[in-house]
Order: sequence, then structure tokens, then C-alpha cells
Amino acid sequence: MRPELFVDLHMGLHQQGPGSDEETSRALRMLPPLGPDARILDAGCGPGRQTLVLARDSGAHVVAVDLLPPFVEEVARRADAAGLADRIEARVGNMAELDLAEGSLDLVWSEGAIYNLGFEAGLTLWRPLLRPGGHLAVTEASWLVPEPSRMATDFWDSEYPGMADIDSNIAAACRAGFETIGHFALAESSWWRYYDEQEARLPELRERYAGNAEAQAELDAAQREYDLYRGHASEYGYVFYVCRRRGEPQASETVEVSAR
Ligand code: SAH
Repeated sequence: MRPELFVDLHMGLHQQGPGSDEETSRALRMLPPLGPDARILDAGCGPGRQTLVLARDSGAHVVAVDLLPPFVEEVARRADAAGLADRIEARVGNMAELDLAEGSLDLVWSEGAIYNLGFEAGLTLWRPLLRPGGHLAVTEASWLVPEPSRMATDFWDSEYPGMADIDSNIAAACRAGFETIGHFALAESSWWRYYDEQEARLPELRERYAGNAEAQAELDAAQREYDLYRGHASEYGYVFYVCRRRGEPQASETVEVSAR
């Protein structure tokens, strides 16, 4: 998307992906309690909706990382306003190249962002950052039915070809060295929390970019995405995967060792 249009469509939103505070809390409750000395990474934190819930509910220290400085500034501002600034460290950074020591984290969290790396690739990359027995919770767009409609598969095959069903993601987590201890699909309303705010901006943006065919085509694509979900929400959705880092080596390492 063109940078100005991205800013107009996305800046100032409460959240930058599907999700809700209740669902963030619910996933956190599936894990053993974390002490005040625990360290959580919130990867692709956006403006920090879930960052605040994590810090508030866990009592732990959260390192929130995002590529885009305006989002990181917003996290810091919200942390301050919520009285959580001493437990939230917001950093500009690339979640694919994190400057964090191996084994230094108790929990890796990521809502609506791992698709930027790919589900299995992201899990594989983040696993070494966790201490043995540490946990990970991520949300990922997933197929919810065995045979989704052609409309839905055509759209997502072009927008996000890596989108998989729940069993495939659990298998991918296993290959990446994680045991999935639970999962749940986010409520439809949690996707609308994100889409509704954006969709409300479209009429004004149509006017602002009148005569700009490229921008109009991008706004059309955004509208198609909202409309598709309106008609096909039972077929795909965001799923929370809550996992524990397994102690044993990764499957791929086992294969390598036995092949030698
Ligand atoms: N977790 C937030 C934001 C989700 S949108 C929420 O649910 O509201 C995905 C976020 O990932 C965006 O803020 C985007 O800037 C960020 N992002 C994408 N690629 C990234 C990368 N390589 N490193 C860090 N952040 C990235």
C-alpha cells in the first residue's frame, strides 16, 4: 500500500489487528502465572492494545517491539496514561532480528503480526529467545472449515497464501519446537473491532484520493476484504495458539542428527 494511504487508513486506530482485551486476558490465563521478574516480548505490538493488557494482567515486564515509530510512540504514551510505564518498554525494532539474548524471555506474545514472518518461520525464529519451558501465544488467521468457499480461498490465496487450518498450524508449531497447550478462535466481533474503524474512514479517503486510480484500487481491495469477511466469517478467522517451548530438540535437528 502507498505510504500516505497506509497512514490515512491506519494511524490513530485503537488496534491494528483483530483481537480484544478479553481474549488477550483469556489466552494469558491459559498459562502458569508469571512473577514480577518475568519478561514478555510483544512482537509487532502496533499501538499496544494487547501490550497494556499483558502488563496489567501479568504484573511482568513487557518489551513491546514494532517496526513503525509512530506505533511505538503510541504504546509509550498509552503505557504512561495507564500508569504502566515502569513495566512497559516500547522499542522500534524488527521482530525478525531482535536484539534479545537467547533464553532471556519467559513469554513471547504476538497478535495479528506473525503473518509478516510466516507462522512456522516466526515460531522457529523466536523459540531460542525463550527460556526452556517458556511459553508463546500468537494469533494467526486460520481456516476454520475443511472446505472453505472458492470466494474465500481465491481472496486469501492471493493475499496470504500461507494461511493454514488449525491442525496444520499445531503441526507447524510442533515442528518449530512447541507443544500447543490450547487454542481458541477469536469472536467475529474481534475482527470487526479492527475492520469497523477502518471501514468508517473509506468515504473520506475516497474523496481525498479522488482521481488517483492507484489509491482507489487499494481502497477497493480494502473494501473487498471487509465484504468477504461479512459473508464468510464462519470459514476463516483469527485463532489464538497458546504453546509451551518443548525441552527436546526440534524435529529437524533430530532428522539431521540421525542422518549423520
Ligand atoms: N498487535 C497489534 C498490531 C498488529 S498489526 C494489534 O493487534 O493491534 C501488525 C504489526 O506488525 C504492525 O504494527 C506492523 O508495523 C508490525 N510489523 C510488521 N512487520 C514487522 C517486523 N518485521 N518487525 C516488527 N514489527 C513488524
